[in-house]
Amino acid sequence: MDIYKKSIAELSDLLNKKIISSLEMTNYFIKRINSFDRELNSFITVDEENAQKQAINADLLIAEKNNTLLTGIPIAHKDLFSTKDILTTCASKMLENYIPPFDATVVNKLDKLGMVKLGKTNMDEFAMGSSNESSYFGPVKNPWDLSKVPGGSSGGSASAVAARLAPIATGSDTGGSIRQPAAFCGLTGLKPTYGSVSRYGMIAYASSLDQGGPIGRSAEDCRILFDEIKGYDKNDPTSNHKVIQKKSNLKISKDDAKNITIGIPKEYFLKDLDKDISDSIFESIKTFEKIGFNFKDISLSNQNLAIPAYYIIASAEASSNLSRYDGIKFGHRCSEPKNLEDLYLRTRKEGFGTEVKKRIMIGAYALSSGYYDEYYMRALKIRRIIRDNFASALNQVDYIFAPTTPTVAFNIGEKTSDATEMYLSDIYTTPVNLSGLPAASIPIGFSNKLPIGMQIIGNYFSEHNILNIADLFQKETDWHLRIPENFNHE
Ligand code: GLN
Repeated sequence: MDIYKKSIAELSDLLNKKIISSLEMTNYFIKRINSFDRELNSFITVDEENAQKQAINADLLIAEKNNTLLTGIPIAHKDLFSTKDILTTCASKMLENYIPPFDATVVNKLDKLGMVKLGKTNMDEFAMGSSNESSYFGPVKNPWDLSKVPGGSSGGSASAVAARLAPIATGSDTGGSIRQPAAFCGLTGLKPTYGSVSRYGMIAYASSLDQGGPIGRSAEDCRILFDEIKGYDKNDPTSNHKVIQKKSNLKISKDDAKNITIGIPKEYFLKDLDKDISDSIFESIKTFEKIGFNFKDISLSNQNLAIPAYYIIASAEASSNLSRYDGIKFGHRCSEPKNLEDLYLRTRKEGFGTEVKKRIMIGAYALSSGYYDEYYMRALKIRRIIRDNFASALNQVDYIFAPTTPTVAFNIGEKTSDATEMYLSDIYTTPVNLSGLPAASIPIGFSNKLPIGMQIIGNYFSEHNILNIADLFQKETDWHLRIPENFNHE
């Protein structure tokens, strides 16, 4: 039946018609994880027993006709979403044994619908990274080429969905961590408007930038998941009342396309961008033009300031958020501390990896009284400028197309010794987080057998339209249906 190839709607149809039960479907994906994940390392925890229990429950809901489209469908969660009674590590030694007493809102909402949690996916430690090499549990491999990184920090989620070990997964995007791994793995990923999806129970990295969202095989699958996880949450004061609570209908039809103008920012197509990526974007634009969309060259200046500003702001917030891991409240504690200072020092020295320590130091420095104005305040001013640049661009055009990454997936180990090179892989994604805008990355082609992604950026709370535009493209093309050869069998 090739279950692994199916969309959420197709899987749901099989469940409704009783062609397969949720328990059988769950066991099927667990079997795929067991046979393929040794190579990929995309999961930190697979909770077979819990998944089976949830599946049996889902089968009851289906039998009672008490089900929705997502009931009984398996999902993988990035290991920074707190899951009650299930290990949640954030890929850090600090939380190696942490079992949360509560669920993140996103997890809770999907549990209530009867989705089945297969397990928790590998990631960069505390979501800091662009390659999934900073995980305490070892690097994740890209299913398209095992010598390449899957992107980060949601690399485990992307690798798992690309190899079809799970039909869909959650991720989080602080500076690109949904879109960049989606691009490297040939998937569709949505970074929602800041405030659209509750951050309650998501382990914090940089609170003014973090946002959870779906990584799936198509825009349609991402829309189905996003519809269920979005919405105001009283437990997250930054979640937004404006998020449309009702289910989305397809808002943009082919006929609407002629009234829509998409901007191509010239600053995103300069020398940093790989030629194959730029060629693929212009090739895909031809398809969008055939559908009826209009295109316009625009300018988005100051984008080159995004990386320095992002790394100051994200590190500053991280240094504050991560101060809670002190060996007292929860998480790792060093053995036999001599005194309080020794407890703090050794706990943090042992518990955090190198990248996390670096960010904490950069952040603490940028926030220190002598340097606050020079670094942190300046970064905030740049953030404002970038936001204003987007606002004026989105006054001239309805959406913006941009590359997701400057290159396709790179070699494992290639950038670990050069932090600047690694940070520059987020050059096209961080401006969107600094502005709080929504953006999706969709697969549009290949370079040397590795997937290429393109971003569709829209105005605040336009994620449904963004996904609709992506869906119109995916109806005309089959990039999103390609599956890496070694994983394209039962
Ligand atoms: N690579 C970026 C960083 O390390 C983005 C990470 C993310 O979006 N979580 O900060």
